[in-house]
Amino acid sequence: MMPTTRAAEWLQGPAIDTFFDEPMELSDLQVAFSTGEDGYPISPVPSYIGLEVTNTCNLHCVHCHYRHGALGYTREKGFMSPEVFEIAVSQAAKHGISVLMNYDGEPLLHPKFIDYLQRATELGVNSYFNTNATLLTPDRVDHILSFYKGAIFVSMEGGKEWFEKIRTPASYEVVAAHLAYLIEANERLGRPVKLSVGVSNLGQPLAERQAMLQKWLPGLDAMSFGEVNDDCGAMISEPFIRMQPRKRPLCVVPWQTCGICHNGDVIPCSIYIAKANTTDAILGNIREQSLADIWTGEAYTRFREALLRQNHRDAICARCTRWRSQFSFPDEFRPGLRIQRSGYWTVVHNIQRESRNS
Ligand code: SF4
Repeated sequence: MMPTTRAAEWLQGPAIDTFFDEPMELSDLQVAFSTGEDGYPISPVPSYIGLEVTNTCNLHCVHCHYRHGALGYTREKGFMSPEVFEIAVSQAAKHGISVLMNYDGEPLLHPKFIDYLQRATELGVNSYFNTNATLLTPDRVDHILSFYKGAIFVSMEGGKEWFEKIRTPASYEVVAAHLAYLIEANERLGRPVKLSVGVSNLGQPLAERQAMLQKWLPGLDAMSFGEVNDDCGAMISEPFIRMQPRKRPLCVVPWQTCGICHNGDVIPCSIYIAKANTTDAILGNIREQSLADIWTGEAYTRFREALLRQNHRDAICARCTRWRSQFSFPDEFRPGLRIQRSGYWTVVHNIQRESRNS
């Protein structure tokens, strides 16, 4: 674990949080990772990886245009084969790497997704996944909960009006019914799975976000709120929009994690997912080399060195604001809630549920 430091040196002025009610000054900023001249120590393998089981999606959410719309999307659409999946998941099992079972696209569109989830579970891999829940029907929920012990994150975005404005062409009633069934079935089975809902702030008023909390949080472990605030699509929590740091820290992502595309290509982070084929950010392929060899190999080393020199290899790293996720504030407690503010998300934890679980 890297040392956590107070970060007055980073900050021109305290960040302001307006998430709950009255604007609140947040001055006690922390930087989670300190860097030496060589950046961070490189572990033998990443601590977690994202698997792009598919890059297809059945929705056209307004905030996903950076991936699939205005800025173009030229990668081939596809589905991860059992061969590529087996290589990836067995290497994750071998090295104790956690796996995000989706990276881009809706994982339940993959006809073998639940089989993949089951295989990862059999191998003892710590896994979790995001879904838009349009296909998370009660029979699929029953199947998944019969073996799964990971975490499921459902994207919602608001009540009916906001949801259907953002998540076209999904039906609010269908997705809300799927989520309600998931919560009910998980409860009935003694909560084998951690459940969370993610909300992208796309202009919903404070009252809308508070209504979301009231409606869903009692059945969940947590809800996450983030802003989509740059043309790379980075999700940043509200206080960090207002924070004006003096300098940009070194991005830690290529020292922690990587993504594996559906064809086995390894890329440094999810921001590259739409344009991996148009940059020099494909750092290897797991059908040709082990993940450990790619992770410590020449292409990855060159990529990290470019970040260290602040000589970003292309416009994607230069424009990206995801480095803000390396800042956080100390947790705050309110009745029944723990509020965690990091650069990535504001996460509201249901601590009453946590204490019942323990
Ligand atoms: S700066 Fe952004 S795009 Fe570049 S590696 Fe870090 S997270 Fe990815």
